[in-house]
Amino acid sequence: MKIHEYQAKEVLAAAGVPVPPGEAVDTVDAAVAAAEALGGSLWVVKAQIHAGGRGKGGGVKLASSLEEVREYSDAILGMQLVTPQTGPEGREVKKILVAAACDIASEFYAGIVLDRQLGLPVLMVSAEGGMDIEEVAASTPEKIFKVSFDPGAGLPADEAREVAGRLGLEGGLVEEMAGLLQKLARCFLDTDASLAEINPLVRTTDDSLLALDAKFSFDDNALFRHPELVEYRDPAEEDPLETRAAKFGLSYIKLDGEIGCMVNGAGLAMATLDIIKHFGGEAANFLDVGGGATTEKVTEAFKIILEDSDVKAILVNIFGGIMKCDVIAEGIIEAAQTIELRVPVVVRLEGTNVERGRELLAGSGLDLISAPGLPEAVESVVAQAKGGADS
Ligand code: GDP
Ligand code: MN
Repeated sequence: MKIHEYQAKEVLAAAGVPVPPGEAVDTVDAAVAAAEALGGSLWVVKAQIHAGGRGKGGGVKLASSLEEVREYSDAILGMQLVTPQTGPEGREVKKILVAAACDIASEFYAGIVLDRQLGLPVLMVSAEGGMDIEEVAASTPEKIFKVSFDPGAGLPADEAREVAGRLGLEGGLVEEMAGLLQKLARCFLDTDASLAEINPLVRTTDDSLLALDAKFSFDDNALFRHPELVEYRDPAEEDPLETRAAKFGLSYIKLDGEIGCMVNGAGLAMATLDIIKHFGGEAANFLDVGGGATTEKVTEAFKIILEDSDVKAILVNIFGGIMKCDVIAEGIIEAAQTIELRVPVVVRLEGTNVERGRELLAGSGLDLISAPGLPEAVESVVAQAKGGADS
């Protein structure tokens, strides 16, 4: 689960990381009122969407008067913000953050991700922070310093000092940066985050450190431990199909390909994606209907796959262990009665009640392609998807 910048700053502030004061609002009048309440003479008006690169897309503006706060809020609220991370269609801005702006002396990057190869969280810092960190990572990776740490112990003080020392800071600021990085690490661990990032983390002209932008992703499977974080969920920013799937207890993740997949069990679903790739296709989604799926759940799963306009063919790959093949068959038939099967559907059923399942499908009058085994099924669905794309 991702959250907005203003929420990420609340999480950081609670962990003791300094952030500029600000307020999230959804009207122009409230934005002006927020700026007035903050006081000072320089504000920053920032689009709140679940994507970075907002500065480049015109979603971050510095305002030096309340009139400018009004002008920029009016321009940003409701805009379709296109950034390098939103895709060409952009994202509608429904909320903005009005914050006290500061004078920046230098911009740093600090981020923590889970390194799956090491199996450990890794802190990355760079003195080349700001809007082009992806460029730094690609062309001058030696300017990014990394240290992994034990999730049980957190980031040790000496390691924090060691990386902080590489940022060109002087005097007490090294120690202050080290403390800040330790708090970021603690926060990453305590929230079960998969990403915790501050970019830019700035040194102001009056020599204090401030997190000017922040980003978090949390592990969905750990959210049950953090009801306070679940409150931050913004369904408007999430893929509507993924939200709907979650409501029906389906594990659904949208992917970039064109073969819709309905599979039971996460392991079989992963293997199915690999096999599709092996035969030259690309999956449009990962979908695990689970072990105890009902007809209703299968129907919903089918509808979700069909609503994705990228889908050119569907592969149903079910091993009936706990799940029975006839239940899957009933779900497919029921779904086909409520929505049009606009693409070819290849079905591979195996396991409990497979005969009954096949009978139901054969007698349904639906135009389905039954495959005797998995390789045949995948070859067939890849061909169907390609044929569909050509025509
Ligand atoms: P992003 O483009 O989505 O990552 O949005 P950021 O919040 O990182 O803002 C982009 C850039 O705007 C930052 O790198 C800063 O250079 C600038 N910026 C953001 N807040 C302030 C501020 O308070 N003062 C000044 N001077 N610049 C700011
Ligand atoms: Mn940023």
